[in-house]
Amino acid sequence: MNGKVFIIGLGLIGGSLAMAIRQAHESVHIVGYDVNENNIQLAKLLGIVDDSVDSIAEGVLEADLILLAVPVDQTEKIVIQLADMKLKDDVIVTDAGSTKSTVVEAAKHLMNRGITFIGGHPMAGSHKSGAGAAKPHLFENAFYLLTPSDNYHTKEINQLKEWLKGTRANFLVVSPHTHDWLTGVISHFPHIIAAGLVKQAQTYSEENELVARLAAGGFRDITRIASSSPEMWRDILLHNRDVLLDLMDDWIMEMAHIKELVANRDSGEIYRFFAEAKVFRDDMP
Ligand code: NAD
Repeated sequence: MNGKVFIIGLGLIGGSLAMAIRQAHESVHIVGYDVNENNIQLAKLLGIVDDSVDSIAEGVLEADLILLAVPVDQTEKIVIQLADMKLKDDVIVTDAGSTKSTVVEAAKHLMNRGITFIGGHPMAGSHKSGAGAAKPHLFENAFYLLTPSDNYHTKEINQLKEWLKGTRANFLVVSPHTHDWLTGVISHFPHIIAAGLVKQAQTYSEENELVARLAAGGFRDITRIASSSPEMWRDILLHNRDVLLDLMDDWIMEMAHIKELVANRDSGEIYRFFAEAKVFRDDMP
């Protein structure tokens, strides 16, 4: 595809998406903007972007695709600002944030102006950040969820998929709420549990330093994701609040149930608890 792409946020995700877009569309012109001057310089040096601009208003003027890859609270602020800026009528605006309902809600003003906004979430990443960590293959074979609001038709979604085809990701279209529920169940809530387990071990390690030394194998497997960025996970919890509150209620009930089984020495039901989990886990694709 020919045209101009404007990337706001030249970090791990923005940089990786820019590289993937260029791989599939050699003649594209990619312009970048970031609040961090070092990331702009690095992105230019690495050939991630062709050019940079000093403001968002300047970058959006001629863009055919605007891609926001900044923290979710910044994404919300920027999509609200975009509603008052001069944009091409047929531009597609998308983002890469890990939560979707609040961002799509913030984009309502933009959509009311007739501008296409399709939320996006490439479901791969790393604990690294910044343009220096960007890779064109980061999203290969990963799921890439697109969350249009109800108003959008397949034409714009297909155009966006065409722009992003260099990611070689598997695109799935879901509603913003379904996205937040799915990612709440399989990603956000497990991060809370992982961090909770680590914090519990930390407390007990004050009683006995062997706790940290013996925490190998299974404990390391289940808590690997507790090393992720605290800023990013704080934002995710604040932006997927309602879904996570519901999941916490369900979890507390699940824990109360297993607590009762243990207290009652209910060997049959305890076996069933693990056996059912094993069957579902073993059957996962
Ligand atoms: P990052 O820290 O590597 O990059 C974010 C960039 O945004 C930084 O360069 C920062 O300077 C810039 N930035 C912040 N506020 C800005 C603003 N107002 N205007 C312009 N630039 C601004 O982070 P990342 O991992 O690339 O995350 C970006 C987005 O992608 C987040 O919304 C995150 O939820 C989402 N995401 C992250 C992952 C992951 O694993 N890291 C995976 C999928 C989606």
